[in-house]
Amino acid sequence: MPGEQRGAGTRGDIPPAKPYLGEAEIEAAVAVLRSGMVVQGPEVAGFEDEFTKVAGTQHCVAVNSGTSALQLALMAMGIGRGDEVIVPSFSFAASANAVRLVGAEPVFADIEPGSFCIDPEHVASLIGPRTAAIMPVHLYGHPADCTRLTALARVHGLQILEDACQAHGAEVDGKPVGSFGVAGAFSFYPTKNMHALEGGMVTTDDAGLARTLRLLRNQGMEQRYANEIVGANMRMTDVSAAIGRVQLGRLGDWTEQRRANAAFLDAAFADVEGVLTPSVPAGARHVYHQYTVRIAGDRDGAQRQLKEAGVGSAVYYPVPIHRLAPYAESKADLPETDRAAAEVLSLPVHPSLTGGDLDRIVDAVRSLELQP
Ligand SMILES: *Cc1c(COP(=O)(O)O)cnc(C)c1O
Repeated sequence: MPGEQRGAGTRGDIPPAKPYLGEAEIEAAVAVLRSGMVVQGPEVAGFEDEFTKVAGTQHCVAVNSGTSALQLALMAMGIGRGDEVIVPSFSFAASANAVRLVGAEPVFADIEPGSFCIDPEHVASLIGPRTAAIMPVHLYGHPADCTRLTALARVHGLQILEDACQAHGAEVDGKPVGSFGVAGAFSFYPTKNMHALEGGMVTTDDAGLARTLRLLRNQGMEQRYANEIVGANMRMTDVSAAIGRVQLGRLGDWTEQRRANAAFLDAAFADVEGVLTPSVPAGARHVYHQYTVRIAGDRDGAQRQLKEAGVGSAVYYPVPIHRLAPYAESKADLPETDRAAAEVLSLPVHPSLTGGDLDRIVDAVRSLELQP
């Protein structure tokens, strides 16, 4: 309204996520377009080679999305009809969708309340004769308990596929996520810690698996028209790979900025009643894809108050996967998952935040009037 002091509104809301696309990314993309080598060319090969440093694996296979990475990895691992894969219900639906897409059945496990990641003890109770694999999700950039999960998988002869789509550069005891399981899957969707417009990567130390993945993503061909197996088209474009390589060069600084922002918010909220900050166990390196607090009280009311103060926030995820329509026949009883879905709120933590933005987030959260 004319003349009205609109406070926060006039300064613009702080978005919960801010995908970055700079001049260097645009130049790299244009160079690919001018080169004529646009699909599965030198940029893809370079991106795969460079990403081995993030995942700490011998091999990386680029694909067109994180969902494709999960799906292709399951196929290459030989998982399909008649198999069960234990997945957390507290995740993005893609984790379970990939299992269904290969004809297998997701079995939903509860989470540990501190990490929001799959609970190894509950996983152990769900293992049965049809269990083929465990899919931990490193949710919000917090690594799942890979030490206990890998021990459990070894004892029961199960494969692990890590959903690392939110966790580029997260570690457990100095070892990167994506290197604990038979394979790991990363996403380069615009809101992730780094992006490639769209894209994904499968990481593995198994050369045979890597070759199968390369066949599966390209119609089962290594040599053109000498198709060896049935495959899909899940290739990455060189435009995406070129953008991904520029972003990869920024990832280290961005991760440090996310971690510094999170440390600032942790300290600022330590004495705020009703706002529980993220907990990170010794040895875990959290890369804060999201900075997610628990709100004791009316979470949706708190979110509205933040919005009025110009602070965007988001709920990941308001409906656990086992309560979504495609999985509604699941009889899973997951109390920690349901509690998290009702309590979590993700605050801005992205590297584009200014000092002023952080102060506004702190003021808005400290001013919350929490209702029961
Ligand atoms: C983003 C995401 C995916 C899927 O990645 P896409 O690139 O969007 O297909 C899978 N799992 C989790 C946990 C994600 O956050």
